[in-house]
Formats: sequence, C-alpha cells, structure tokens
Amino acid sequence: MGFFTKDVDKDKWKNKYLELLNVQQQTADMSREKEELLCKAIIRLALAASGFNAQLDQYLHSIRHHLEKGIDSSTLKKDLEHFIDTLGGLNADNYKSSSDTGFLFDFLLRQYTDTQQQSALQALRNTNTSDNQEQLFNTLLAIINLDVPSAGLVEGIVNQIDIKIVSDQLLRLLEGIDIPIVFSQQAHAVKQELVAVNTAVPFVMLLDRSISLLLQIKQHNQLERQDIDKFLIHITEQLAELDQTVHGANEVALESELRRSKLDQSLSEQIEELQLTSNNATKLESLKEIINDRLIKITTEIQDYNQKESARRKKTQLQLEELTQKVKEMDAESKELKSKLERASAQAFRDALTGLPNRLAYEDRLHNEYARWKRYQMPLSMIIWDIDLFKQANDEFGHKYGDEVLRTISKKLSEHCRETDFISRFGGEEFTMLLPNTDKAMAVRLANQLRYVIEQTDFNYNGRQLRPITISCGVTEFMDDDTSETAFERADSALYKAKQQGRNQCCSD
Ligand code: GH3
Ligand code: MG
Ligand code: MG
Repeated sequence: MGFFTKDVDKDKWKNKYLELLNVQQQTADMSREKEELLCKAIIRLALAASGFNAQLDQYLHSIRHHLEKGIDSSTLKKDLEHFIDTLGGLNADNYKSSSDTGFLFDFLLRQYTDTQQQSALQALRNTNTSDNQEQLFNTLLAIINLDVPSAGLVEGIVNQIDIKIVSDQLLRLLEGIDIPIVFSQQAHAVKQELVAVNTAVPFVMLLDRSISLLLQIKQHNQLERQDIDKFLIHITEQLAELDQTVHGANEVALESELRRSKLDQSLSEQIEELQLTSNNATKLESLKEIINDRLIKITTEIQDYNQKESARRKKTQLQLEELTQKVKEMDAESKELKSKLERASAQAFRDALTGLPNRLAYEDRLHNEYARWKRYQMPLSMIIWDIDLFKQANDEFGHKYGDEVLRTISKKLSEHCRETDFISRFGGEEFTMLLPNTDKAMAVRLANQLRYVIEQTDFNYNGRQLRPITISCGVTEFMDDDTSETAFERADSALYKAKQQGRNQCCSD
C-alpha cells in the first residue's frame, strides 16, 4: 500500500498546508502592521525627544530619516546603538531642557567659522548660565559682530540642525531682551516668523533678518547709552545749579541750615539714584520717565523748601520789623525817660524859686570838690551867706516880696561869682558857695565884692524906695584833717560872728 494511493490523506495534507500558508500570511500582515506602528511610534518618539541634546538629536534625526523610508534593521540598529551609547555617555548635567541655548550655540558655531568667533562662542557656551538673557544677547552680538564675514548659512547645516529648536531658542532670546519701541513692530514680525518657521529657505532669510535686527538693536542701545550719558550730565549740572542756588539762598538761620542740609542730602541721594538707574538702564524712554519722576520729586522738595523758607523769611521779616518797631519805641521811651530823669534830676538838684542848685546839689558838689581837694591839695574855700533881717522884710512887705528878694539876690550872686564857683540855695534865706582853687583871703575878697553888689542893689517895692537889703557871710578854707562837716561848721561860726558883729559883713575862720 503506497502513500499516494490514499486520496483522502492527500487532501488532508494539502488542506493543512494551505491553512498554514494562510496563517503565515496573516502573521506576516500583522508583523507589517506592527512594524509600521513601531515605525510611527519611533518617529514620534524621536520627534518628542528632539531638542534635549545636540548629540542625541543627530541620531534622532537620522533615525527618523531612515524610518520614513521603512525599517532597515541594519541601519536602524546602528542608529539605535549610537543613540543608546550617546545617551549612556550623558550625565545629568549635560542633560538640559530645550530652554537652554545649546542648539543656538551649535548653530552659531557652524554659521560663524572664524577661529576668533569659534573660541569666543565656545567660551561663552561654557560660562553661560542663561540667567541673564540680556547679557547673553550682548555677548553673542559682540562675537557675531567681530567684523568677520559670515560663512553663510548653507542648507547642509540646516539639515543637520533642527531649525525648529534653533528658532525656538532664537525666539526665547528675542523675548528675553528689551526691545526698543522703534523696533517693536520689526521684532514682532520676526518673532511670528520664528514661531511659524518650517522650511530651510525662509529660515535662512529669517536668521539673517533676526541677526540684523539684533545688531540694529545693539547699535540703537549704544546710541541710547550716549544719549543717556549726555542727558545725565545735563541733569546733574542742573541739579548742581539748583543745589548751588539753594546753597546761596540761605545763610541766615540754623533752622534754614538744617532744612538745607536735608535738601542737599535728598538731592545727593536723588542724583546717586539717577546715576545708578542710568547705569542699569538700556532704554532712554524708561530712563527719561524715571528721571522725570525724580525731577518732579526734587522740584516738589525744592518748592516745599522755598515755600517754607519764604514763610520763614516773611515771619523773620515780620519779627524783625516788630523788633525794629519795638526798638524804636524803646529808644523813644528811653529818650523820654532819660529826659524825664534829667528833668527830675534837675528838679531834684535845683531850687524851684530861685533856679539855683539846691542843698542836695550842694552836698553832691561838696563831696566831689572835697575829694578833688584831698587828691590835688589845691585850696578850697567855702562861704555861707544869710540875708540880714529877712524876717522883717517878709513881715513888712509880704512873702511874695520876700520871694522876689530871694530871686534877685540869687541872680546877683550867680552873675558876679566866677564860673568855677558853685552857688546853691542851702535853705530859707541862706546860700552856700564852694570856691575851688581859692584860698581864704581870695574868698573873703570875692565875698566882700558880692556883699557890696547886694548892698548896692535896689530892692524897690511897687516903685517905693526901700532900705537896702544886705547879706552877711562866713568864709573858711578847707584845712588838713577837715571833713566837709568841720569846714561847714567853721564857716557857719564865721557867719554867726558876722551877724554878731552887726551884719552886712564877711567874717572868716
Ligand atoms: P538874721 O539877720 O539874724 O538872719 O535875721 P533874719 O530875720 O534873717 O533871720 P530869721 O531866721 O529870724 O528869719 C528868716 C526868715 O526868712 C524867716 C522866713 O520867713 C524867711 N524865709 C525863709 N524862707 C523863705 C522863702 O522861701 N520865702 C520868703 N518870702 N521868706 C522866707
Ligand atoms: Mg537865716
Ligand atoms: Mg537871715
């Protein structure tokens, strides 16, 4: 019995083979589907992983490129091995987010191939912490602007670098710096194009435009810086002038000095702040705004200061005027008082009836003459006069007549004694005389002359001829050991003697 002879078994094997083929076909289809799915997944993963590291990105780019043409296990394996090796070689520090500028540096290193630029870019890349976008921007521009012709952006570079990531980083850099208002529109357009960048050719142009914009901004900022410096110098000069004005304006009061020193301090602080602000400022507009604010503050302070000073000056002026007025009044009052005192003094020392110095004046003068006599030892004489029988005259012709006699005798005695002699009405009908530089003999001689004058004087009453009115006196010269009292007593004794001897005579002692 042969194997092929059995038809039933033959069909059975055939069917089994066909079934197996069918299953194999289905498995192959499923594998292809899985392969496609895997391809898509790897491409998406590669896309998602792009931008984390420049080295990895090269392989991710290559992986994507190969997978788009279908899986070629040998090249894919090579790419994946490279990718895994590179990934393994990375440490955490090298693994930076896409916000870093690694790609931009990669790109710039390819774009600007001059050795100087290359080393400067490498140095910047190593030191850059991305903390200060502004600083990074300025340094990058300085390197780019080294006056070295650009190598030109070649398509090859674009292919090697993910332009999306470079444009993202460029965008971030642009957003991180202060864009002057004049460039805001231009910058906005460039930013929008950087967001939408997708093909190599517009990116080349866009990059040129971005760099050119950044250079223009830098140049603008440099000019702004010069403007700021000029403006600042001008402002500082103005402030210094204001300061000087304030300095010169007030030199009077301590209060004013204190206020001025406060203002000085405030102005200095404002200037310092302005200088600090200007050092950190890159935009003239914002600086002007700050300076204007400061100037308003300073002006307000100065105005406030001036107002207070003006008020103080007015107040001081008023006080001064009041004081001057008071001084004038006081001066007038003191003058009046002085003259009153003089009058009072004159009255106090003068006899009202006769106008002669009174007893008080006599005693005052005696004190002075006595002191002088003691000091210079020049002769000093004294005379005491008394009207003879005056009581009778009063009694006979009345008190008024007696007063008139008193006045007449006073006048005659004053007129006929020497200028240096001092005469006073001592009291009642008695008079005293002090004769400096006059010895007793001279004094007696003068006294007799005066006595004679009075004797010869006509004392009529209502046209009636009366008997002569006479006077008697006692004369003495100050002697050693004399006091004013002892001398007076001697003179008085001499007067008494004259009376005793018959009146109308001068006696000395
Ligand atoms: P004797 O010669 O001794 O001095 O006699 P006498 O009368 O002058 O002396 P007595 O002392 O007795 O009189 C003085 C008189 O002088 C008395 C008084 O009324 C008079 N007398 C004194 N003061 C004044 C005065 O101011 N005015 C008038 N009218 N008489 C006066
Ligand atoms: Mg008398
Ligand atoms: Mg008398």
